Amino acid sequence: MKKILLTVIIALTMATAGARDYNFNEMTYTPKATTFFLNTNDDAQAVTVRIYDAGKDGNMLKKIDLKRVKGSKDEWTGKVKGDLKGKFYTFDVKYNGNYMGENPGVFAKAVGVNGRRGAIIDLAETNPAEWGQDVRPAINLKDHVIYEMHHRDFSIARNINLDPKITVKRVSTEYPGKFLALTEPWAIGHLTDLGVNAVHVLPSYDYASIDETKLDQNRYNWGYDPLNYNVPEGGYSTNPYDPTARNREFKQMVQALHKAGIRVILDVVYNHTYSIDDGNFQKTCPGTFYRKNADGSWSNGSGCGNETASDQEIMRQYMLASVKYWIDEYHIDGFRFDLMGVHDIETMNKIADMVHSIDPTMLVYGEGWSAGSCAYPGDKLAMKANVKQMPGVAAFSDDIRDALRGPWDGDDKAAFLGGLPGFEESLKFGIVGAIQHPQVNYSKVNYSKEPFALEPTQMISYVSCHDDMCLVDRLRASVPDVKGNDKELVKLDLLAQTAVFTSQGIPFMLSGEELLRDKKGVHNSYESPDSINRLDWNGRIKHPEVFNYYKGLISLRKHHEGFRLGSADLVRKHLEFLPGGDCLVVYRLKDLKQVGDTWNNIIVILNSNNEKRTVKMPKSTYTIVGDGDIINEAGLYTITTDEIIVPSRSAIIMHD
Ligand code: CA
Repeated sequence: MKKILLTVIIALTMATAGARDYNFNEMTYTPKATTFFLNTNDDAQAVTVRIYDAGKDGNMLKKIDLKRVKGSKDEWTGKVKGDLKGKFYTFDVKYNGNYMGENPGVFAKAVGVNGRRGAIIDLAETNPAEWGQDVRPAINLKDHVIYEMHHRDFSIARNINLDPKITVKRVSTEYPGKFLALTEPWAIGHLTDLGVNAVHVLPSYDYASIDETKLDQNRYNWGYDPLNYNVPEGGYSTNPYDPTARNREFKQMVQALHKAGIRVILDVVYNHTYSIDDGNFQKTCPGTFYRKNADGSWSNGSGCGNETASDQEIMRQYMLASVKYWIDEYHIDGFRFDLMGVHDIETMNKIADMVHSIDPTMLVYGEGWSAGSCAYPGDKLAMKANVKQMPGVAAFSDDIRDALRGPWDGDDKAAFLGGLPGFEESLKFGIVGAIQHPQVNYSKVNYSKEPFALEPTQMISYVSCHDDMCLVDRLRASVPDVKGNDKELVKLDLLAQTAVFTSQGIPFMLSGEELLRDKKGVHNSYESPDSINRLDWNGRIKHPEVFNYYKGLISLRKHHEGFRLGSADLVRKHLEFLPGGDCLVVYRLKDLKQVGDTWNNIIVILNSNNEKRTVKMPKSTYTIVGDGDIINEAGLYTITTDEIIVPSRSAIIMHD
């Protein structure tokens, strides 16, 4: 019986492995000729390519019909002689007697303004000088410190007026809201001063919601509305009409960050497209790229009107090819999958394997949930609860996020930070990195009733991101006495990030939290104006203690192995919780010399009570390195004791 079963399994595996390889190379340029290629559905009747002299409007120069590739039902190709560099093209596929409409194909690598036509360029010409020498900064998986940012939030403000005493002296940007802002010394200086080593940029592929011909309208969007997955967004380039500009400037951004030792992580949104009928997938292969409900209607697991079908071989290979293309062409260092729970486990594992075959230190993580029910079995989806089946993939921990700030379904609801008891186990769950730990009572964890991670590097530790209220707004909305009292606000803000940055998961922060940013209470700022979303750089002067504390936390983590043990076994061996209480979590990282730390034992105390607490601990001579709003690795003071008083709403970090 066993033998037969094994044979069947092998046969099935071979059948999968033998699946055809799709070719997504839709346009190949040489000075002598340009070759076009397209995958369609089997029942396509014709494919027309049109050549234009402009990315929008202009004149049509040529029109050709592609021919079916010999022996194939669904592959089409054709060649146009002559040097077409600088020209634009569209595909138009005929089904059931009707043409679906012009589009740039599903895998355009350069486009005209607003992404409606592909552009014929020589990609090598978009490489900045010394691009060949660009290398990925060496950062181990466990050592990442992620800074999530939106290009426009970060650099649109003209009020950059930084303290001359700090290293960032530039007073304004030449490239507000553009990729190139991240090449400027003030920007690089701010990031390196803070100490983050990975920038996670919100969607930076070509998206639909911003009219690139009307950038003077200064409209804003997060960009979760994909149009062309494999082209940088035109709104972030200095000239969206020039198809080479966006590609080149994106590379310049990556290059500048790499030179500063900072990795670039791309937010990828393969789970839905901005439209079905007006989208490139549907115009090329109707129905194939999306999931349908049993009644034939489109499934909407993304909450954005549709849901792609990673379980279909063509979409699976498309995602693999696209991710690989961003690594090869743009030197991207990691990927954050939007609504990863819409994709299937098999696809995510294949992507992680491919990425890690290139570099095992690249991060692959995502939102382990969907935004609606998917037309695919839940046990096969890349949900947080299934992360254990995806050893190369990490997921955001809403457990620690909501244990700290409060649940997602009510901005006025507080949790640990609001001084409400009952969230201690959820916080402990986040501190250990969502792994199995003998001292965590999983039955009391808010969401995950069992560990979801095999290793702590599979958990993204955070308290806020672009979604929902930022930390300041949430604290003001949920903790009554904090509204109008910045002193108490800052205390809770720093306490929150202490939990995040001393967690064994991968720490992640929203850009601007280090400036005590707020969004004027706006919960969903995806298309709010700059006045809501932009960073106010004066925050660095108004609240230097906040920036310095964040910087201190990051530095502490970087300098001490104990905060990033990187393996579940080491966390179980070296991390123990000491007796705490309501809104009081205490833990010790012990025997750290064994893992190469210069400190042998570290104690972290998190007290969110609005009054002081006395904490018992093993008697020793302790050097206090973090107390209230100050972190000093060299030590603030030393005491020999077996107990310590922790002030209200604050953390203490010490070592012996
Ligand atoms: Ca666009």
